Amino acid sequence: MNRQLKPQKRIALVAHDAKKSELIRWCEHKRAQLSSHQLFATGTTAARLSAALDLPVQAYLSGPMGGDQQIGAKIAEGQLDLLVFFWDPMSQMPHDPDIKALLRIAAVWNIPVACNSASADFMFSSSLIDTEYEYPVPDYQTYLAGRTTPSA
Ligand code: PGA
Repeated sequence: MNRQLKPQKRIALVAHDAKKSELIRWCEHKRAQLSSHQLFATGTTAARLSAALDLPVQAYLSGPMGGDQQIGAKIAEGQLDLLVFFWDPMSQMPHDPDIKALLRIAAVWNIPVACNSASADFMFSSSLIDTEYEYPVPDYQTYLAGRTTPSA
């Protein structure tokens, strides 16, 4: 089964507190490119980004309040195309299970993920960022057929 991305991408942006300034700097640098796409972010990240960029950023709940899970659900539903998630590798987070779940669901649904400014640079240097792109996603029927039936 394939999904087709349009030239205008629906981009989810998330940054942990220690990484917010880095994400904002990166987004300011890429503002022109970002302005042609649709932007979504967890609560605090969205507020800071929309103020810094003067662009519309649709806000979900703050990450620790469920925002990561909301973004994960949208990825699973095929309503978000890319994830730029500057997560903090140096701190423990109360919502660590949600962070893992978001990264897992992004891997399940085969969407591009950038975890820092270098990987985000590579992502946005790709010609695919502004063109149509078809990519494979899991087929639930095949998944079901391959499952072993638990013995009674
Ligand atoms: P925030 O959430 O943008 O509301 O700070 C990010 C997170 O901590 O996952």
